[in-house]
Amino acid sequence: RLEAIGSLTAGIAHEVNNPLAYISTNLNTVDKFVAQLNRPEHLEGLPEELRVQARDAGESLDDAQEGFERISNLVARLKGFARSPDEGRSSAVTDAHALAQKAASMAGVGLPEAAIRVAGGEGQPIRGSEGAVTQILVNLLLNAVQASGSEPDIELDISRREDEVQIRVADRGCGIDEEALDQIFDPFYTTKRSGSGLGLSISYDLAERLGGRLEAANRKDGGAAFSLFVPAAV
Ligand code: ADP
Repeated sequence: RLEAIGSLTAGIAHEVNNPLAYISTNLNTVDKFVAQLNRPEHLEGLPEELRVQARDAGESLDDAQEGFERISNLVARLKGFARSPDEGRSSAVTDAHALAQKAASMAGVGLPEAAIRVAGGEGQPIRGSEGAVTQILVNLLLNAVQASGSEPDIELDISRREDEVQIRVADRGCGIDEEALDQIFDPFYTTKRSGSGLGLSISYDLAERLGGRLEAANRKDGGAAFSLFVPAAV
């Protein structure tokens, strides 16, 4: 199902991209024309109502440009859904602690420093694309924050397990219903009112592409723990 979503979004992104290219070119052309029109010596020769419209046209174009940029960014993100099967696998070697710290500061915006604590993994290199590992960790951390109350208490522990590195994101939140443990990685499974149910399925898929895996469990004393296993580099 995830692959089908990937192909569909890639198709849409591709179709939207073509008209976007000429919208951009035309916007630039009209922008230059309006800038010319608004030069004082040209404005003078225009009837009053056209003069006002020439000034307004500049603002309208700025709005159109902003809309164009938002659509372009969205299309770029949609393209990210359709990754080639090998993407995520790479020989890039990264320091696990530094990577986890980066994900923690991305997901921890607006939270007290102590809300997400990173332990272990200093100098431990892992194999895999930095972007993919960061994306998985940020997804897990945001879920952990959302599952927690007003005072998130999240641990990000890194430890070596034979030829793998385990990165465990553990929270003290509401935990996962035992019956739901089998479903949380399914695309569109969500218990949130405005959730997409895609974060975990994409993360699961990415983890496999990295040559690793993603597991979920409840903690005995409350909360959930997700473990990402990735190949150790040395
Ligand atoms: P979304 O966040 O849009 O719901 P996800 O795929 O990221 O999509 O998560 C699917 C579901 O898994 C969530 O709606 C929630 O029920 C459950 N879940 C994920 N992470 C946690 C967590 N840390 N604690 C409790 N439940 C979780």
